[in-house]
Amino acid sequence: MNQKSATPRDASAVILLNQDESKVLWAQRNPKISFLGGFHAFPGGKTDETDAQIIVKNCADKNLEKFIVCAVRELFEEVGVLLVRGGEKLTKGQRASLHDDLISGRSNFAEILADWNLWIDAEDFFYTGHWTTPKFSPVRFKTRFFIAKCPPKQTPYAAITEMQNIEFIAPKDALVCWAKSEVLIAPPVLISLQELAKNEFTDLQRSIKNLLEKSQNCDGDIEYIELNPHIICFPLRTETLPPATHTNCFIVGRQEFVVIDAASKDEAEQAKLFELVDSLIEKGFVCKEIIVSHLHKDHFGGETVLQDHLRTKFGLEVPVSAHRITAESLQGKVKFQKFIEADELITLKDEAGVNFAIKALLTPGHARGHLCFYDEDLGFLLSSDNVVGAGTVLIAPPEGNMTDYLNSLERMKNLPNLQHLCGSHGSAIFDAKAKIEEYIAHRAEREKQVLEAFQNGAQTAEEIAGVVYQNLNPNIFPLAVKSVEAHLEKLSSNNLI
Ligand SMILES: [Zn+2]
Repeated sequence: MNQKSATPRDASAVILLNQDESKVLWAQRNPKISFLGGFHAFPGGKTDETDAQIIVKNCADKNLEKFIVCAVRELFEEVGVLLVRGGEKLTKGQRASLHDDLISGRSNFAEILADWNLWIDAEDFFYTGHWTTPKFSPVRFKTRFFIAKCPPKQTPYAAITEMQNIEFIAPKDALVCWAKSEVLIAPPVLISLQELAKNEFTDLQRSIKNLLEKSQNCDGDIEYIELNPHIICFPLRTETLPPATHTNCFIVGRQEFVVIDAASKDEAEQAKLFELVDSLIEKGFVCKEIIVSHLHKDHFGGETVLQDHLRTKFGLEVPVSAHRITAESLQGKVKFQKFIEADELITLKDEAGVNFAIKALLTPGHARGHLCFYDEDLGFLLSSDNVVGAGTVLIAPPEGNMTDYLNSLERMKNLPNLQHLCGSHGSAIFDAKAKIEEYIAHRAEREKQVLEAFQNGAQTAEEIAGVVYQNLNPNIFPLAVKSVEAHLEKLSSNNLI
């Protein structure tokens, strides 16, 4: 049941430089926003139909015109900076009042510019290319990036509730925050910061040229995401449960690394992963294990192909591993050469050769042999299918067990130094603890509803599901019944029914 990836929407973003061109403006997106909540980003957003009504002076590339307008409008909306010609005559108070008109919908941006005799000059903007949100995201944008300089006497501020912790920062300092896993950064922002950090703005034109080339070389497609210096997330198309379309394969470590859930059975997807793995091996790095997190069909299927590939191409023998329970369940389907014990520490090496470890956490509930992986140094949890960024987690007895699942969530929530997580589907999540608490609360609420439906006379799991899950797509009703069975099992073992 393969779903189509979401169609990208047009958008623009601005890499705003401070007056002396030593820093860039970034801000944290409100963690409550569903798309990249909690991530650090440049100001920007999707195009508005009125953007095309505004003329940009000196715009040689007419295709970019509406995106420059979008960039200027979003910059004004989000951080209160009005990057237009003629704008210097406005007072701070007047700008605030115009901002208020725009946000409240009293005037649109075209009207504001016309009324105040303001205009946009394309010469204030340097295009650095476009990037598209990876296919695994339920919401996608094709974003055009521009570099521009903040006008004198204007100070950016968080002008809407979607933005917080706004600051100008030197790109190299931004990368330090990322390396310590203090922030999450979306790939195009990371690529821009890495390029700008290279020469510290001593040759801005060269950085712009390099960024544009990078974007053009891959037509803005992002295959994988560097979550932090230890972990790469590589979404691969699998036969998973809608609305998810991909399973996140993780490459953890560099000089010594493991590959978790190389699950795609699709040859084209496998080839993309091999390209990255090969590039690491060609640098002399070592693939220590190919891990299967649990028994579901969207988590295995490509691991043996990867193992064969590494044997054929490099003469390497890399073991395929899982927890013993998973290995037993997959007997005849996958051959395992190694078992991972509960709480086993898997020691790896980063790019510089420094050791770090991920702990394999046996976290049953969704599946009996289910493993999560925790990098305590960076506070980053790979939550596999126990907590995900897209779709919902199914607890289906007899493999699934609600009591075990909730115990696993409690254990995950209380991990020391827990900051962020990334599950097997969808994007990384900034506030891991809040997300796990939300999951626990959701299950408690569902249990209450199941108990109430039972006490009101619904007897079978089907009847209860009919009461609890109203207006449900009939295709997924059988899954809802399974989930109710899991709640009933827990209620019964607690002598509540
Ligand atoms: Zn699963």
